[in-house]
Amino acid sequence: MSDLDTLFERIARGEIPSYRVYEDEHIFAFLDINPLSRGHTLVIPRVRYERLEELPEEVGAALGRALPRIAAAVIRATGAPAYNVLQNNGRGAGQAIPHVHFHIIPRYADGSGLPHHWPARTLDKSEAPQLAQRIAGFLA
Ligand code: 5GP
Repeated sequence: MSDLDTLFERIARGEIPSYRVYEDEHIFAFLDINPLSRGHTLVIPRVRYERLEELPEEVGAALGRALPRIAAAVIRATGAPAYNVLQNNGRGAGQAIPHVHFHIIPRYADGSGLPHHWPARTLDKSEAPQLAQRIAGFLA
C-alpha cells in the first residue's frame, strides 16, 4: 500500500486537510488541489475502490444521487456557463490516485477547464452488432 492508495480515504476522514464542499454517509467532495479551473471539485466514495466497475451498487447509487446536486452547487457558486464530468480508470486512462473519483470541472469563456480534444472515429458497422451483443451479454 502506498500513500497514494490511502490519500483520499484519509482526506475523507479529515486526517488530511481539504476544502470540503459536501459529505454524507457514503460520499465526500472537496476542491482539487491542482484545479484545471476555478471550482474544480472531486467527488469520492469514503471507502476506497480503485475503479468504477468495482463499486458496490449502494455506493454507485450514492454517487449517482450526490453528483447532480454537487454539480449544480459548483455551477451556481462559480457562475461557470458549462462544465465537464471526468472519471479516469487505470493508469493508461490518466488515473493518478487509485481511489474512484469524479472530477467536476467548470468550463469558462476564457477556455479554462478540461482541454477539449475529441478525436472521434467512425463506428465500424461490420462489427457493431456483435460488439453490442457481447457487451449486453455481460450485463445479462
Ligand atoms: P486523477 O488523475 O487520478 O483522475 O486525478 C487525481 C486528482 O487528485 C488530480 O486532479 C489532483 O490534482 C488531485 N489531488 C491529488 N492529491 C490531492 C490532495 O492531496 N488534495 C486534493 N484536494 N487533491 C489532490
